[in-house]
Amino acid sequence: METKQQVSQDYYLDLESRHGAHDYHPLPVVLAKGKGVYLWDVAGKKYYDFLSAYSAVNQGHCHPDIIEAMKQQAETLTLTSRAFHNNKLGEYMKFVTTYFGFERLLSMNTGAEGVETAIKISRKWGYLKKGVPENQAQIVVCNNNFHGRTTTIISFSTDPDTKAHFGPHTNGFTHIPYDDLEALKQTLESNPNIVGFLVEPIQGEAGVYTPGKDFISGARALCSQYNVLLITDEIQTGIGRTGSLLAVCGDCTCEDACEQQSATYIRPDILILGKALSGGTYPVSGVLCDSEIMDVIQPGQHGSTFGGNPMAAAVATKALEVIKDEKLTQNARRLGEVFRNELNKYIANSRIVQLVRGKGLLNAIVINDTPDSDTAWNICLKLRDNGLLAKPTHGNIIRFAPPLVITEEQLLDCVKIITNTLKGFEKTSS
Ligand SMILES: *Cc1c(COP(=O)(O)O)cnc(C)c1O
Repeated sequence: METKQQVSQDYYLDLESRHGAHDYHPLPVVLAKGKGVYLWDVAGKKYYDFLSAYSAVNQGHCHPDIIEAMKQQAETLTLTSRAFHNNKLGEYMKFVTTYFGFERLLSMNTGAEGVETAIKISRKWGYLKKGVPENQAQIVVCNNNFHGRTTTIISFSTDPDTKAHFGPHTNGFTHIPYDDLEALKQTLESNPNIVGFLVEPIQGEAGVYTPGKDFISGARALCSQYNVLLITDEIQTGIGRTGSLLAVCGDCTCEDACEQQSATYIRPDILILGKALSGGTYPVSGVLCDSEIMDVIQPGQHGSTFGGNPMAAAVATKALEVIKDEKLTQNARRLGEVFRNELNKYIANSRIVQLVRGKGLLNAIVINDTPDSDTAWNICLKLRDNGLLAKPTHGNIIRFAPPLVITEEQLLDCVKIITNTLKGFEKTSS
């Protein structure tokens, strides 16, 4: 135990650097333990987690109930494959479809697989139900989207790093600017072979871009008008993160499937979930839609060895129960407002920070420097030294997304850490 603690952080950094693919550029901190909103590094230093594994850990690190469900299932049955039935999947399917108000679930593992599944379902729906000529289906996507890393998904990324030298790329995607209903309308009008509009209700990776309040509702109306499926990727925004169960719930914090209860709810045709669906314990993703759409997938046409495994079912059920039992959605909404209010007070007199934006506990600050500057990175290093972990996204933007179990007292402590850290950068900015 003691010798382990004495091993310096450099040992671990060196191992990864020597033996791993260099596919990430992590902040130099080596974590060894997590509990709730806290993380500890290998030297025992404690941090607030302000990334939550890209919103996978909404329920907090190592949530005791989720871990208990995981342990129990791990000791009983972990994987059957879908060659056979298991006694967890059906109950999970019933639970999760009721929870989100859809008729059917297709269970996968990673977020990218969920997106791939939605693409396949919508294309097939286009051919079988809409009457699009074979191989002509188009899906509308937005500039600066992030939907994952598979070959097809990166084919419609607009980020050169993501895409370059991975071709040939998959066809069948048409781009519009984000938050541009007029462009969506023109695109739908001009091409009868469009089968879906795939969209993030808030663009998380792009820098927490929150669209105008009519964008998603307007997209809903246009998709209905042109018989196109509205496919919402809520892998990052869903499950309480933005202060409602789903970002498409608008201003509602109801605790049951929103559909029947909220006037602001915008119902997508296909909903993609991942990340916090397991509370960050296990890769679980899912695609939800009604039978009319889901039934285009028949035996042998799609699948995954681990998709719908009993561990995933047990863990995801508990992870969703925790969201409601602990009223994490409501907490995210209330504390998100506190967070933006407090930061806005600071920003009023700041030269280094331009603005704070976001919804619920998915927020970001924009640093007053060029996107290729290292100011945001240096701020994150200083935040780390001061006990808070966050990561820049797209150069000069820092995302702040703590686990939703954070208390007001902890949040105000974090605001203090953030503003004190930022103060150190005010004088160095020209
Ligand atoms: C993280 C993310 C994905 C991809 O999920 P993976 O589990 O990393 O494959 C897709 N869409 C959005 C919006 C995401 O945030």
